[in-house]
Amino acid sequence: MSARAAELAERLDVVRRRIATACDEAGRDPDEVTLVVVTKFFPESDVRALAELGVRQVGENRHQEAEAKHAACADLDLVWHFIGGLQSNKSAAVGAWADVVQSVDRAKLLRGLSRAAHERDRVLDVCVQVSLDPPGAAGRAGADPGDVPALVEAVRQAEGLRLRGVMAVAPRGEDPGRAFARLAEVAAQVRSVDPAATWVSAGMSGDLEEAVRWGATHVRVGSAVLGNRPTTG
Ligand SMILES: *Cc1c(COP(=O)(O)O)cnc(C)c1O
Repeated sequence: MSARAAELAERLDVVRRRIATACDEAGRDPDEVTLVVVTKFFPESDVRALAELGVRQVGENRHQEAEAKHAACADLDLVWHFIGGLQSNKSAAVGAWADVVQSVDRAKLLRGLSRAAHERDRVLDVCVQVSLDPPGAAGRAGADPGDVPALVEAVRQAEGLRLRGVMAVAPRGEDPGRAFARLAEVAAQVRSVDPAATWVSAGMSGDLEEAVRWGATHVRVGSAVLGNRPTTG
């Protein structure tokens, strides 16, 4: 095993134990929580090392980088999650390689995603990204909780897409537990409309314990496994 692979193995083990402990404390079964390792900014070689270590779910947030990595790793049995901001003119391109698009925050994205699903002759899994920021906050991503029901309906009507649930990022400067509690309410509303939409993707390196406490089914962990990214992202 290379030094890098050994380092990844050690960090991955720490993260898996953090998830197990958080589940234990929340009285949840660890099988209910899926770890998505966020490999953005890191090379194909790291994705390969992670796959060797049993990682099956990877997350990326930039289309061009992810498209290239996906192509380079075509021999690996991985589920690719897109978790980044999406332009409507790029949604078909993302849908061409992603297995799951977690960051659907407006109906304008759906046409391209549906087209991609049609071209691949498969169903594309999507989550609705919910904003947990105060209205008008700078740089916020995600649909306002009040706009989620209409967006959920639009996803349900869209050809080739399967609504899996909700995704969110905790805002900076707020206790993540409070933010994830709001997400849990939105998730429950979505499930009341579509009982199969059970995913709650929440929690990152710094707040995965809070997310698990509030019902996350997917945590998206980057730096705690791969180390610090070269720049913000
Ligand atoms: C980068 C990113 C993550 C992972 O963040 P870490 O703090 O490195 O774990 C999770 N979710 C989204 C949407 C991201 O862009």
